[in-house]
Amino acid sequence: MPISFEEQRRRLVERLLREGYIRSEKVLKAMLRVPRELFVPEELRHLAYEDTPLPIGHGQTISAPHMVALMCEYADLDIGMKVLEVGTGSGYHAAVIAEIVAPSDMPREKWGHVYSVERIPELAEKAKENLRRAGYADRVTVIVGDGTKGYPEKAPYDRIIVTAAAPDIPEPLVEQLKPGGKMVIPIGDRYSQVLYIVEKRPDGSIKVKPTIPVLFVPLIGEHGWRPHEY
Ligand code: SAM
Repeated sequence: MPISFEEQRRRLVERLLREGYIRSEKVLKAMLRVPRELFVPEELRHLAYEDTPLPIGHGQTISAPHMVALMCEYADLDIGMKVLEVGTGSGYHAAVIAEIVAPSDMPREKWGHVYSVERIPELAEKAKENLRRAGYADRVTVIVGDGTKGYPEKAPYDRIIVTAAAPDIPEPLVEQLKPGGKMVIPIGDRYSQVLYIVEKRPDGSIKVKPTIPVLFVPLIGEHGWRPHEY
C-alpha cells in the first residue's frame, strides 16, 4: 500500500527534528499541518516530502523543507505577528509562517497576518490558488511587485523573511521593520551566500548576525540584483 502524504509528512518532520532544523513546538506543529503536496507541481507530487527544493516553473523553486523550518526558527515567529515575506514562489513558506502567526486552532481575533510579495505574476496567481486550496487564503495576502521595496502599505512589520538572495540588505526592508523586529535574509552572489539574521534594536540601530551558508535564487529588483547583473 502506498504511504499517505500525511505519513510521509510525519516522517520528514521527525527527521528535521532529529537533524536539528526544527527546534520549537510552534515550528513543529506548523510543519506537521501544512500539506506541501498542494504547493508542488502535480507531476512532482510524489517528491513533495523529499527534503529538497523542487522546480515550480519560470526558473524558480519551492525551498527545501529544512530551509523553511530553519528560517522560521531564526525569525523567532509568534502568534499575532505581522510578517512580510519577499518571494512568494509556491506559497508554501508563507503558509508555514501563517500557521505559526495565525494557527488554525486559534480564534481569529488572535491571528496575525502574512503579506507576501512575488515579482512573477503567474507564480503569484498559482500561489494564491495553492494557498486557497490549503486553507490559508485569509491569513496570507499575495502581492505582485518588487519585494526589494518591501510593501510600505502595511509596514511596519514584526518580522521580514526574504526567500531569494540579495547582494546587500535592501534599505527599504530595514526601514519597514519595527524597532525590536527581525529579518532573515540570504546575502551573497550566485554561488556563495550566507543566511543573515538582522535585528533592529529598540533604538533603531541594526545588529547583523551571519548564520549558515545557503543557496537561493537571486532577488531581482531595484534594491537587489538587476536582471542583467546576475
Ligand atoms: N518561498 C517560496 C516557496 O515557499 O515556494 C520559495 C521562493 S523561491 C526560492 C524565490 C522567489 O523569489 C521566486 O519565486 C522569485 O520569483 C521571487 N523573487 C525574486 N526577486 C523578487 C523580488 N524582487 N520581489 C518579489 N519576489 C522576488
